[in-house]
Amino acid sequence: MAFNIVTKNNVRDRFKRAVRPEIWANSEDKDWNNWVWQQQKRIKSMEQLEKVIHVTAEERDAFAQSNEMFNMGITPYYASLIDPDDPNCPIRLQSVPKYGELNILSTDLEDPLGEERDMPVPGITHRYPDRVLFYTTHNCPVYCRHCTRKRKVSDPSSSAANKQLEDGLAYIEAHLEIRDVVISGGDPLSNSDERLEYILSRLRSMDHIEVFRIGTRNLVTLPQRVTQNFADMLKKYHPVFIHTHFNHPKECTQEAFDACTRLADAGCILHNQMVLLKGVNDHPQIVKELNHKLLMMRVRPYYIYQCDLSQGISHFRTPVEVGINIIENLRGWTSGMAVPHFVIDAPGGGGKIPLLPEYVVKHEGKKWVLRNFRNEQFEYIEP
Ligand code: SF4
Repeated sequence: MAFNIVTKNNVRDRFKRAVRPEIWANSEDKDWNNWVWQQQKRIKSMEQLEKVIHVTAEERDAFAQSNEMFNMGITPYYASLIDPDDPNCPIRLQSVPKYGELNILSTDLEDPLGEERDMPVPGITHRYPDRVLFYTTHNCPVYCRHCTRKRKVSDPSSSAANKQLEDGLAYIEAHLEIRDVVISGGDPLSNSDERLEYILSRLRSMDHIEVFRIGTRNLVTLPQRVTQNFADMLKKYHPVFIHTHFNHPKECTQEAFDACTRLADAGCILHNQMVLLKGVNDHPQIVKELNHKLLMMRVRPYYIYQCDLSQGISHFRTPVEVGINIIENLRGWTSGMAVPHFVIDAPGGGGKIPLLPEYVVKHEGKKWVLRNFRNEQFEYIEP
């Protein structure tokens, strides 16, 4: 029997391209699709933002009061995903300042994860025995209003100069117990391809280094940055894991799909680390839709982070139960691949602590009484 193979890529067609706002409607495709152009045209002032969306009085005032502490920066691409008329648009909440940022609680922490405390040399956090965080830049295409590293991201005086980079590489080279390096920032894709390749080639030349992870939000905020040349360059240094940060289904565009495709086709393994944010993704249906889209983009939902205790982001924090309820509404109701780990990154550097709904009803000796996602009970008897 002959089979007719259907080759149309239906999955890609389910993702929509970003619609350019009026001010960029006539810009040429070669510019719009160029990441350098996108970086140069970033929205950094209220005057620029007002040409794209209807700015509220609160946003204008919050910008004036917060911009010194934490800049605003939005790529034209990411701005094109904002609903110009909805102050509660999830993309807008993540990129435009609100009064909540000015509210510093007594329980807020400047460095909630204790990253500076476990820093043997500037630019390296070495907390766990076999892996390190390596900060290579403090720039990002979009400054996310919920950023955990507000204390240094967007601050040019804290950028990773070449000396810091060399000191970090020398530290990793000298510590043979390190097998896993998380290349971070800021956003490491703010580095040039040449600088990134230098870092990767140095790390790959160290016999004790097994894997790299590149933590980047460019797939979400500037997918044009993931060029074919960049993806081809990564092929030389496998295994390369990409940890990205999609928070809402609106971020899953055709541009993002194509960027993920370039990386996945180049052999990278893609994971998503969502941050649970009030008003953005604090509902099981939103997370389920996001995770289904991510799987179609070949990105595995990996973590949901409880929003941490960074200063000026308390307006994004939800009760912890919200995250547990999201897991309760995913586990069993959809593919296990679409169910990430819900974790709290413990304040002060305690590491990630997973939180789960309670599935053990009773445990007596060798008998375990468990419940499934439908609340039906089952017994498991140990031998
Ligand atoms: S991309 Fe990451 S490091 Fe940069 S502002 Fe957003 S959350 Fe912070």
